[in-house]
Amino acid sequence: MEIGCFVMTEAKKTLGILGGGQLARMMVLAGVPLGVQFRIVDPAADACASQVAPLLNVGWGALEKLEPFAREIDAATFDFENVPAATAEWLVDHARVAPNARSLAIAQDRVLEKNLFRQCGLPTAEFADVATRAELDAALARIGAPAILKTRREGYDGKGQFRLKTVGDADAAWKALGEQAGSRGLILEGFIDFDYEASVVAVRTADGAFDTWPVTRNWHVGGILSASLAPAPIGEAIGEAARARARAIAEELDYVGVFALELFVRGDQLLGNEMAPRVHNSGHWTIEGAVISQFENHVRAVLGMPLGDTSPRGLSCMLNWIGELPDRDALIAIPGAHWHDYGKAPRPGRKVGHATICGDDEAMLAERLRQVGQALGRGTQVQPVIDALAGAH
Ligand code: AMP
Repeated sequence: MEIGCFVMTEAKKTLGILGGGQLARMMVLAGVPLGVQFRIVDPAADACASQVAPLLNVGWGALEKLEPFAREIDAATFDFENVPAATAEWLVDHARVAPNARSLAIAQDRVLEKNLFRQCGLPTAEFADVATRAELDAALARIGAPAILKTRREGYDGKGQFRLKTVGDADAAWKALGEQAGSRGLILEGFIDFDYEASVVAVRTADGAFDTWPVTRNWHVGGILSASLAPAPIGEAIGEAARARARAIAEELDYVGVFALELFVRGDQLLGNEMAPRVHNSGHWTIEGAVISQFENHVRAVLGMPLGDTSPRGLSCMLNWIGELPDRDALIAIPGAHWHDYGKAPRPGRKVGHATICGDDEAMLAERLRQVGQALGRGTQVQPVIDALAGAH
């Protein structure tokens, strides 16, 4: 509204985030310059996003305690997809919630997720829902080995998984995961002999505007993301196919906000592994490596603002810091290197920070990664990325 020479902007918006980890923290850091205020809910009193936004320290199920939070916010979103469905549904009666409850429910369950992928034209590994030991034998007889037994729900970063090299590993697999068949459900997946892993991070608004960042190539160590390279050195056809499948899934779900689709690439074929109904670790490079980051576009989409440009600025490599942080000053002395400390206590297997290294072209990025490897003693972490950059010439 224009009054005299003043332009009145819309009242400040407040976004609530369920989950107060590093994803919430980076959403806050991206949204504050837009004039957005944040409220965080997390059962952990030391949730790291509480260092940058007010925290309501309550459990997910305590609906009456969530009421003050619901009253203060214009919209709610998630940094954690395993918020109980009942809490998400309750919140819908109090605030705009994005992504919607159906998207969360599907992304929480590997069987529903794979059925959705197939329905949207994205093939997946062969799979079977496994509820009993007899069903595991039947699934193995059909799918064969190698295979992976996983929990249907609540598995992440390679947790809740058992790899079967031969059908003879069925006893060991059942011993490891059988008792979770009742609580979390199990799925047996055929093992995909992929060339590499990739992901596409996408964003959609309530009006149906849709965009993706360039496809990212990902390296995992022990089931946890170790490094990402973007734009992935892949053919245009694979990039286009990944974007088209992400769009089909977003439209089917009437999805609002950012999500990531994790893919296996084999030859020129894409197979869907899983989706994350939220900003994603393989999109952290977008903070410095894209015109507008996944975090800012998520905040924009959820609050109904126009989306920003997802184009890359040169090439970027994200390196995850797992368990403990390396030497910050050694890293930030390297040109094009950006540091992210999540403010979390060190603990084995915990994501405590990351770095993004940017370069104008393959040669510049490879040289900077060599410097990072040497300065931080991280040669094995950067080498696969350097090799992929060399192969891209
Ligand atoms: P997930 O938690 O499903 O993303 O699995 C963690 C990692 O295990 C993936 O990033 C892959 O490296 C590997 N993995 C999972 N499922 C399969 C599969 N069906 N075939 C081959 N590798 C897999």
